[in-house]
Amino acid sequence: MAGAANLDVTRRKRLERFIAPFRVKPGSKVVLSRDFDPAFKAGVKKKEGVALLAEGVRLLSEYQARLAAQDTWGVLVVLQALDAAGKDGTIRHVMSGVNPQGVSVHSFKVPSAEERDHDYLWRYAQRLPARGEIGIFNRSHYEEVLVVRVHPENLERQRLPPAANQGDVWKRRYREINEWEHYLTDNGFRIVKLFLNLSREEQRARFLRRIDLPDHNWKFSDADIRERARWDDYQVAFSQALSHTSTKWAPWYVIPADRKWFARVGAAAVLVHTLMQIDPRFPTVTRRQRQALREAKQALEAQAPDGAPANGHKHSRHGASADEEQRSDGSAPPRAGAKRRASEELPSAS
Ligand code: AMP
Ligand code: MG
Repeated sequence: MAGAANLDVTRRKRLERFIAPFRVKPGSKVVLSRDFDPAFKAGVKKKEGVALLAEGVRLLSEYQARLAAQDTWGVLVVLQALDAAGKDGTIRHVMSGVNPQGVSVHSFKVPSAEERDHDYLWRYAQRLPARGEIGIFNRSHYEEVLVVRVHPENLERQRLPPAANQGDVWKRRYREINEWEHYLTDNGFRIVKLFLNLSREEQRARFLRRIDLPDHNWKFSDADIRERARWDDYQVAFSQALSHTSTKWAPWYVIPADRKWFARVGAAAVLVHTLMQIDPRFPTVTRRQRQALREAKQALEAQAPDGAPANGHKHSRHGASADEEQRSDGSAPPRAGAKRRASEELPSAS
């Protein structure tokens, strides 16, 4: 077990170093154009990046299974970006290995009349993940200080009472968002905030591609051109949101997004790192439960028909679940993230 634990520590340290340049230090003042390079790739070559992503996807799948089994923590992934930065592709690739039962994805669009009839965080609170789940917000409550700020007519539609509209509405919203996220974190929901940072020139190239490739036309809308015209306003709105809402409990990570493959590696790395911090474990079986399992096993073995082995699963296709059996015998679960080879856990006699 000690070897596996060391492997965990090494891996976690390596990840920490990798994601450190993306992290927005709580309390720091961000100017996106000055502080973060959308083309940064940490000296990683694409081929290495593809291998890293595969490792990340595998780790996510392992951790997600433990997160679900432990059923104590939930993880909320907040994904923000300008158009064509690769939010959808990042979700598709990073989550490609996880059990769909343990994940939820919600895309937030222009609020409906019903949603606008509530406080501005209401619709996001409706979509939070449960314990044991990873929930992804494709756009999020941060739209309330981004698009709503760049287009103040959205704020008018929210029909706030005069008191809520006085002073600096955005500073108040940053504080409210920070408090809401603090509350969620205190209650077992870790928040992973990712901003996919795209350059203006790369956005232009991706828009042109969407126009030129018929199968991609559906991804393009006039709204994209209108929003692009407000590029500088969005850079300011993002810079300020990042400055005011990167907190100790829910820091922002600015992921360089000019290379799609790198954005995916970066996003996976931050998410895996958070899961490593949570370090979810399979629940262990109590002495009483173990005794009950033994009795159930004896009863089942006694029901074997004539000529059938008392316990035949090791010879059947169910034999693949041998590690479950090992755990029900009360052995310690493997450390999260430890490399396990199926051959090490399969019964040697088969
Ligand atoms: P898409 O993600 O391309 O499908 O577009 C969704 C659209 O909904 C974007 O143009 C967002 O700016 C817009 N949107 C998302 N949340 C809000 C919000 N709270 N208020 C106004 N518009 C929003
Ligand atoms: Mg769009």
